[in-house]
Amino acid sequence: MILSGGMRAVTINFESHAVELKQVPDPKPIRDSEVLFRIDQVGVCGTDRELAALRLVMPPPGDSFLTLGHEALGQIVETGGKVNGMEPGDWVVPFVRRPCTPACRPCADGRSDLCATGDYIERGIVRMHGYFTDYAVDEARYLLPVPAGLLDVAILIEPLSSVEKAIEVALRAHVEFFGFDPPRALVLGAGTIGILTALAFRERGFEVAVCSVEASGHPRVRLLETAGFRYIGTGEIWPADIVLEATGAAEALATGARSLARNGVMITLGAPNKAIEFPYRDMIIRNQALIGSVNATPASFQQGCRDLARFDRRLLRAMIYRTRFEDFSQTLTGRLGPYPKVVHMMSEAAR
Ligand code: BGC
Repeated sequence: MILSGGMRAVTINFESHAVELKQVPDPKPIRDSEVLFRIDQVGVCGTDRELAALRLVMPPPGDSFLTLGHEALGQIVETGGKVNGMEPGDWVVPFVRRPCTPACRPCADGRSDLCATGDYIERGIVRMHGYFTDYAVDEARYLLPVPAGLLDVAILIEPLSSVEKAIEVALRAHVEFFGFDPPRALVLGAGTIGILTALAFRERGFEVAVCSVEASGHPRVRLLETAGFRYIGTGEIWPADIVLEATGAAEALATGARSLARNGVMITLGAPNKAIEFPYRDMIIRNQALIGSVNATPASFQQGCRDLARFDRRLLRAMIYRTRFEDFSQTLTGRLGPYPKVVHMMSEAAR
């Protein structure tokens, strides 16, 4: 299919240091293994806001700008001759990461989330333009088909994929016995990742508590409590077998460590580098593990898609604030609102 006249793209210009709306060329004609899709929705997360604040600067080779957007939902327009199992009209969520070249062992093995060189590519984040634009082309193997029944919440699949991977890592690392019956998970942070983590642990039979800085009565706290989750303030200790940090604050790790049961595992997803007082010694004598986790596997995208269908749909819907394409400056650089997830609807017709 030939598009005409170029496309809108929300970019970060690394020369002018500004978030800019740019006219970019239409995608090139697709190859046999590729898929052209129309972007319908784009989610914004902390990584996008860090990019907008120029804290991560890795434009594609030869460009001084990066098209943002790595959380996307699209509808297929055209498939290449060798693409099976996908057709025009189908809905897809793209994976974020692509292997390094030449591929290291994990990348060659389909585990670019564990890339050993650090030379991986991430669409919309590292060295490759993203999806905050009208159309995109990807190899079919980087796309997850999404059932039509999930479209109202499918934009949450990408953040949920990181949660799925982190939980899998935590469960695998938990080589000893759970201290509690049923096992307990403490989630630090009440943003998108925190809420999705709480839902995912509950789905796996855990007793779950969420600990965050929001005061009682805050819309996110009300959301969690309405969905039946225990919410505790940052001063409280609620012992747990697994603690997952999704706060963006290093201090949360100290709270997490104090809450961790013997043989427990703490996974950190959002803590920045910062010197904090940390009870390493206690971790040793209590056989505890601290693990960092980033990105996701194709399997965790698939797991995310299955889990999303089982989660409390009312809670998922209530997490999302939908806004126009044109509001990108506000969502990328303005004050954060109370909704955990902001989603841009790419066309008026889609809203
Ligand atoms: C994305 C991940 C990515 C990470 C680091 C997150 O926002 O969801 O896919 O690996 O940022 O760039």
